Amino acid sequence: MSHRARKRFGQHFLHDRNTIARIVDAIRPEPGDHLVEIGPGQGAITEPLLATGAQLTAVEIDRDLAASLRARYAAHPRFTLIEDDVLKAPLDCLQPTPLRLVGNLPYNISTPLIFRLLALPGVVDMHFMLQKEVVDRLAATAGTAAYGRLSVMRAAKASAQSVLKIGPGAFSPPPKVDSAVVRLVPRQPAFPVAAPDAFETVVRLAFSARRKTLANGLKSVLTRDQIEACGVNPSARPETIEPAEFAALGAAVAASEQ
Ligand code: SAM
Repeated sequence: MSHRARKRFGQHFLHDRNTIARIVDAIRPEPGDHLVEIGPGQGAITEPLLATGAQLTAVEIDRDLAASLRARYAAHPRFTLIEDDVLKAPLDCLQPTPLRLVGNLPYNISTPLIFRLLALPGVVDMHFMLQKEVVDRLAATAGTAAYGRLSVMRAAKASAQSVLKIGPGAFSPPPKVDSAVVRLVPRQPAFPVAAPDAFETVVRLAFSARRKTLANGLKSVLTRDQIEACGVNPSARPETIEPAEFAALGAAVAASEQ
């Protein structure tokens, strides 16, 4: 298929057979699984995923690519196409559940997309190819350089593991950055998030002032004493604070607003 890659849709198509096989291997689809593939493009991983016997729903925004996929899989009993923007598509209506989400994601929308997908019910796991730096931030733990807002917000919803690193040469056209595949498994948080909105506010404020102490970054919402009362050191830097401690600070903000 000849298709000029569209920059605005973050199009980089996988062509390396070995990489495609390793991605499918990491996903380990089983017959009967319901996979939801975001951005199938020219079908590089769609084809081998369908070959495993899984059911696959693909969400593609590009009209030309969607038309090609529709023609190619018109008679396929386990393939469904949704031609839509994945940021707007009603994914919460997809049946049957549980869902397994997969995709070589458009890197320009990956952060808002991950947050949207982490809130989706009925998902057992997700395997996404992303910019390696974003995978590192998602999977990071407290006290490491990559730890930040994305790591904390992810920790409240899912476990994360980097399972594969992929260089630019596996794609056409090659992206300017290295890529990696992350496995996300939604879970009950290992810590209670009593006040989700306040939790989000605290995490955003703390990391928007990364070089400041926690007391400084959070001074619009909590005093030093209130931070200390949560068992958290107000002089610490945000990158050393565990997700559960941010949740406790969020609960304190919510309590102080009542
Ligand atoms: N899966 C293919 C592959 O690995 O070769 C294509 C990957 S390419 C990085 C990203 C794909 O996502 C493209 O097919 C692009 O058209 C599609 N895409 C971009 N933005 C999208 C959106 N908002 N909703 C759905 N699909 C989108």
